[in-house]
Amino acid sequence: MKKKIGIPKCLLYYQYYPLWKVFFEELGAEVILSDNTTKKIMDDGVKLCVDEACLPIKLFYGHVLNIKDKVDYLFIPRLTSVSKNEYICPKFGGLPDMIKHTVKDLPKIIDTEINLRKSKKKAFTTALEIGQFFVSDKTKIKKAFKEAITSYGEYRKKVKQGVIPTDILDKKLSVVKKNDENMLNIAVIGHSYNLYDKYTNMNMIEKLKNNGINVITVDMVDGKIIDEKVKQLNKQMFWYFGRKAIGSAYHFMETGEIDGIIYLMAFGCGVDSFICDFIERKIRKNSEIPFIVLNIDEHTGEAGMDTRLEAFTDMIRWRYRDENNLSAHG
Ligand code: SF4
Repeated sequence: MKKKIGIPKCLLYYQYYPLWKVFFEELGAEVILSDNTTKKIMDDGVKLCVDEACLPIKLFYGHVLNIKDKVDYLFIPRLTSVSKNEYICPKFGGLPDMIKHTVKDLPKIIDTEINLRKSKKKAFTTALEIGQFFVSDKTKIKKAFKEAITSYGEYRKKVKQGVIPTDILDKKLSVVKKNDENMLNIAVIGHSYNLYDKYTNMNMIEKLKNNGINVITVDMVDGKIIDEKVKQLNKQMFWYFGRKAIGSAYHFMETGEIDGIIYLMAFGCGVDSFICDFIERKIRKNSEIPFIVLNIDEHTGEAGMDTRLEAFTDMIRWRYRDENNLSAHG
């Protein structure tokens, strides 16, 4: 019988699922995902997790509870770094321990450290370590890793072409592209798990698309462009998420094709609290692009979110249609 491996549908699921799925399936495992986020998943996570944690970490607890009794293994890697010379948020590193010490009756946890800070080549040795939970044949693990990298490359290619990640992950390949002059291009900055979890962001991307907006997210910006843009900083940004947000923001600001920028931040996020402020100052000082910060937490109401989204997009349209002297910043 196939071993079942559970992957919580949150945090870096939105970034790496096509890689993880192919890797585990090539090794003969069955991949089981937790359900899409619901009120119950969120409430369960909020009850169990410490109050001080950010919303995405609280949600992770809810997804673990949702899936833990259906699988033989839970995949909760200890994520230290996913790119050279950079760190991911420390909460990712502590996550396996937080879960093990809080959630009862867990299946076996695969908590191998993923740390590519010194070299991307470490990815292969990490894959060998993880693969040995399923097979001992290193050639088979090597092949699975290769297939997984190919799958990830195809996924990234589609996202860079402008497809929203969840349209690929949910196999709905509907792509909205700017096809008439009235369509606005709105860029959205934020962590993938905030941008694409439809429950927590109250379906923000779909609402924008239905309002005639072409949505461009940070994940659609090529890594090479981000590398180039962050060279403008006086110091190296060593937070992975921060570098991605700042590099994309500079790109959106300079491309001349963006009509407005939304920064979606999770309440309690240490990285966002200063990166968002930094980006906002830059945009206000160097451009006329309308900019808004939307904050989400477990108490955010949908009506409030809808009102702010509508006001923001209406303001941009009025500006184009009627006058040139409306404030760029709401
Ligand atoms: S980067 Fe921010 S939102 Fe993400 S886990 Fe860390 S604190 Fe939470």
